[in-house]
Amino acid sequence: MYKDLERQVISAGKCVMCGTCVSACPQDLLAVDEWGKRIVCVGKCPIDCKVCTDICIGLHPIEVDSSEIFGAFSEVVHVQSLMGDVKQYSYFQYQPIHRSLGDIAKPKSGVVSSILIYLLQEGLVGCAVVAGRRQDEPWRPSPAIATNRNEVLYASGTKPFHCPTNAVLINAVANFDRVALVGLPCHIEGARRLAGRYREFQEHIAYLIGIPCGNILSRDLFTKQAVEKGIDVEEIVAVDFDNAVFKEEVPLNNLGMYIVTRDGRRHPLSLNEFKAAMAKECIGCKDFSAEYSDLSVATLGAPTGWSTVFIRTRRGKELIEDMVTKGLLIKRQFVYEKVKDKAKLAAQAEMVWLKSQPKTWMSIVTQALIKRARIYY
Ligand code: SF4
Ligand code: SF4
Ligand code: SF4
Repeated sequence: MYKDLERQVISAGKCVMCGTCVSACPQDLLAVDEWGKRIVCVGKCPIDCKVCTDICIGLHPIEVDSSEIFGAFSEVVHVQSLMGDVKQYSYFQYQPIHRSLGDIAKPKSGVVSSILIYLLQEGLVGCAVVAGRRQDEPWRPSPAIATNRNEVLYASGTKPFHCPTNAVLINAVANFDRVALVGLPCHIEGARRLAGRYREFQEHIAYLIGIPCGNILSRDLFTKQAVEKGIDVEEIVAVDFDNAVFKEEVPLNNLGMYIVTRDGRRHPLSLNEFKAAMAKECIGCKDFSAEYSDLSVATLGAPTGWSTVFIRTRRGKELIEDMVTKGLLIKRQFVYEKVKDKAKLAAQAEMVWLKSQPKTWMSIVTQALIKRARIYY
């Protein structure tokens, strides 16, 4: 019953807002509240149902392959999009009020957008389920179903906050024969669980494209940090980052994250400010790189304008090969061990920070995070 989900997950601070339970509920009773912050029940549950607690990512965190930092993959390559102007667009081109901010929040490499546009244009999928943007707070994500190029580009760009993307998967599989999902590791795992339980998801989900996720920001803690920095939250239009932490030349304590306000100014967010705003619901999550996706697409370790792509399944491999053959992507090999070493260093740096934290109310959170960081080296 919902009250079990409420007690064991939502009120217990374990809900990572993946949205999977909304698509899983056989009675269609679950929904995301209007603020995108909580899963609510809009009816009376049958007494013997426990689908939502069974499938819940917060209650049953993802199991990962602890022997390999990025999980299992058949190939890892650097990929660049050759689809001309895909990299030139961001959400802000589509918003007259923000058009002057057009340069902000452009895709880092455009690889994910290019893949989705290709899949849609070739008819390989009918839609892509993605994290779009809220109208009222464009820096926050909101689940979206993209069916064409413009809708894909409209949703592009970084939004490092929880997004109940999987809540709209049920609508996607009900209306389209083949569906692509772009999501964080919890969304990918949620989609796998839905496909394992229900035939409609198994038959209709065609591609799972994972975006690695180390940590995500809590909306409430982030806005507190922004206010402390003297930023008017109403003026925020984007939160973006250079993912500089994994670049060769950048020190590990440089996060490269910044807040963008309506006047076009960038306000850097320090590593400590980021950590203070991290979502505590995510402390049980150990899947960094979306190990159960067909493809994981990351900026880590990639030169500017390129992505690092972990090819994990045959269908993922065929997709990349087809796009390369058609001249839409270019790929090249690189020294994977260097990325791996850098990621280990980042995990070790996180451990040092975690161990330096005061043993106050933070201590439980800290201990759990230490457990998680320990996996990675
Ligand atoms: S999945 Fe079952 S228990 Fe959960 S809200 Fe739906 S009907 Fe209720
Ligand atoms: S399935 Fe996801 S959204 Fe639903 S309660 Fe669990 S963690 Fe929250
Ligand atoms: S850390 Fe990222 S992938 Fe893991 S549960 Fe939180 S939002 Fe999802």
